Amino acid sequence: MTEAYKLLIGGAFTDAASGETFETMDPSTGQAIATVAKGGPEDARRAVEVARKAFDEGPWPKMKGRERAQYLLKVADLVKQNAGHLAELEARDAGHTIRMAKGADIGMVISTFRVFAEIAGREVDEEPLPRNPGSMNYVRREPIGVCVGITPWNFPIQMAAWKIAPAIAAGNSVVIKPATYTPLTTLEVGRLCVEAGIPEGVVNVLPGAGAAVGEELVTSPMVDKVAFTGSTEVGRRIMQLAASNITKCTLELGGKSAAIVLDDVDFDYAIDGALWGVFFHSGQVCSAGTRLLVQGSILDDFVAELAKRAEAIAVGPALESSSDMGPIVSEAQLETVERYVGIGRDEGADVVVGGERAMVEGHDGGFYYRPTVFSNVDNSMRIAQEEIFGPVLSVIPFAEDEEAARLANDSVYGLAGGVWSGDNNRAIKLAERMRTGTVWINDYHMINPRFPFGGYKQSGLGREHGEIGFNEYRETKHVHLDLGGPVRARHPWWDLTVPKPVPGSLGSDAEGSKPEG
Ligand code: NDP
Repeated sequence: MTEAYKLLIGGAFTDAASGETFETMDPSTGQAIATVAKGGPEDARRAVEVARKAFDEGPWPKMKGRERAQYLLKVADLVKQNAGHLAELEARDAGHTIRMAKGADIGMVISTFRVFAEIAGREVDEEPLPRNPGSMNYVRREPIGVCVGITPWNFPIQMAAWKIAPAIAAGNSVVIKPATYTPLTTLEVGRLCVEAGIPEGVVNVLPGAGAAVGEELVTSPMVDKVAFTGSTEVGRRIMQLAASNITKCTLELGGKSAAIVLDDVDFDYAIDGALWGVFFHSGQVCSAGTRLLVQGSILDDFVAELAKRAEAIAVGPALESSSDMGPIVSEAQLETVERYVGIGRDEGADVVVGGERAMVEGHDGGFYYRPTVFSNVDNSMRIAQEEIFGPVLSVIPFAEDEEAARLANDSVYGLAGGVWSGDNNRAIKLAERMRTGTVWINDYHMINPRFPFGGYKQSGLGREHGEIGFNEYRETKHVHLDLGGPVRARHPWWDLTVPKPVPGSLGSDAEGSKPEG
């Protein structure tokens, strides 16, 4: 018997207008675990109307940031209280290993709500502008309005928090459309927002197909901002659609990040780090270090040891605490990974380890792939240029730091990257040359809601997290209070009290009446 989930609109769980549902499955087993109401365009319109009303007429945007902060802290507490259930649900719906769900996901969700509560409580809504004789000027930061969040399947509960917390902290209302593969924990976070007392209509969750629900949301004239995480291809489409109403967009898109290993590094440290950088969540991570640039002088020894340790990674069902790496999210994504490994072989790269599906006893229906390392990769190959989104690492040699920087930057993407080195100054120099939104030195995947995250180039637009991310959810208004008497005193050419010459009469100044510019 599978569980049934509904849409969250206006603080209530409701069926889709069409009455349609879809099944979501456990990628560890390939079995359905829940039926979910399938939102369509009509539901999208209703959710936006409700969110609009909550913003235009409700108390939420009028509250002080510190008042809203109390609600966000309550959500964080509720997530903590429900941690076990949420972690298990994420493991079953999205294939996160239970260790990762408990150790990374829940902590990130709690800290995201707490950090944005802190920012909302601390940030001032009004700031004075430089003194200008005869007037008083200030800037007001105001919530944008109705925000749409469209999220991917790789980190569902974290992405829900990344989209909901800053939006509501800044006083907006939101409609979140989770990925069709993984809607459950986003609905649960929505439920906890309602339980925390956040006014109805401020947080709405709308599972449904991207092309139907997503496009309806993005093109709605009642929506003020879209925040999207997912593929560059869909991000491009969203940006085009949003252009119809000049709807503001932040986009967090694909990546093909380079992790650079310098020859002065501690081997043990860097090999562990490289494996963590790419095989965390089976490589289904936008910022994964999928290109490992290794200095030629240490290449052979490094790759041999890397392969040995990759081989030892335990692939297994998400709920088993012994699993280091869980399943791929879906059969379709597993096929994508297989296809790219085939492309890599055809391009002439060598599979050092992996390169095939993983067999997991008792879980024949699951979608497992072995950690795979390619050597002899040229940076121009498709496996080094295109996002695979699976446990596939391309090792690329380089000779000098200069070449490492050039190779790292030779990508349409620029989301993240890393440098592994025993020499901080050398590593920092290299990090500063990388055209990417984040560089981690001697670590990887250190994402923190206090620090900005986002991409250069085709990896995105705008930033999430921290004050910068918070301000992506606020408008800037300049207020000017004049203290200098009648308007004509400051704009003498607009003095309506001066008698005007009759047009066509002698003395009319045709030149002077021309508009400027
Ligand atoms: P998508 O980019 O297609 O999906 C991300 C989200 O966008 C989902 O909620 C999806 O809905 C929605 N969506 C899809 N089409 C539209 C549309 N036309 N308008 C509005 N919303 C839409 O990712 P996929 O799941 O298809 O994965 C494909 C590839 O994308 C992966 O192989 C990987 O390379 C990359 N990817 C990158 C991610 C990242 O974090 N940068 C995350 C996930 C994937 P629905 O689920 O209903 O299709």
